[in-house]
Amino acid sequence: MSDKKYLALIMVGAPGSGKGTHSADIVEKYKLAHISTGDMLRENVAAKTKFGEMANEYMQKGQLVPDDVIISMVLERLQKEDCEAGCILDGFPRTVEQATALDKALNEQGKPITSVVNLIVEREEILKRLLLRGRDDDNEETINKRLDVFHAQTSPVIEYYEKQSKVINIVAEGDADHMRGIVLSALAKNIGE
Ligand code: ADP
Repeated sequence: MSDKKYLALIMVGAPGSGKGTHSADIVEKYKLAHISTGDMLRENVAAKTKFGEMANEYMQKGQLVPDDVIISMVLERLQKEDCEAGCILDGFPRTVEQATALDKALNEQGKPITSVVNLIVEREEILKRLLLRGRDDDNEETINKRLDVFHAQTSPVIEYYEKQSKVINIVAEGDADHMRGIVLSALAKNIGE
C-alpha cells in the first residue's frame, strides 16, 4: 500500500532483555524484514560454514564478532528485496562503528533509521532469564562477559542514537506477555500512529 509508512527500526538491549521476542511482535504487526544478527550467525554455525566457525569462536567466549565482517553481513542483507518496505534490526548495531556504517549506508539510500527501541532490564533479572533460557552460550561465564561487553560497547550506541533523538526507552522487567502491549504502544506513539 502506498500510504504504508517506511520503518527502519533497531532493537537494542542487554542479552536476555527480550529483543528477539519483541522484534517478532513488531515484525508481525508492521510486516517488516526481521534481521537478527545472532540468528544469522547461528545459522552459519549450524551449517558449518567457514564464516560460522570463525564467528563461533567469539560467540562461545561471549565476545563480539569483529565489526568488519558483521557490517558486511548486514549491509548485504539490507540489499534484499524484503527490506524495501522496512526492516527491524535485532542485535545490530552493537558498537558505534557498526552504527556509523549502518547510518552511512541507510542515509545514502535516503532511508534513515526511524526509531531505536531500547529495552532496559536489571542485571539480576537478566541473569535469571538467561540461565532459564539455556542457549549454547548461556552459561554463567559468558553471560557475565556478554553483559560487560554490552555496557562497554553497546551502551555508547544508545547514546549515539539519543543524540539523534531516536531512542524509545522502555523498562522491560515484566514477563513477555505483559511487555508485548507496552512495547507495541510505545512504538506506535513514537512513529505517530
Ligand atoms: P544476546 O543478545 O542474547 O547475547 P544474540 O543472539 O543477539 O544474543 O547474540 C549472540 C552472540 O552473537 C553475541 O554474543 C556475539 O558474539 C554475536 N553477535 C550477534 N550480533 C552481533 C553484532 N552485531 N556484532 C558482533 N557480534 C554479534
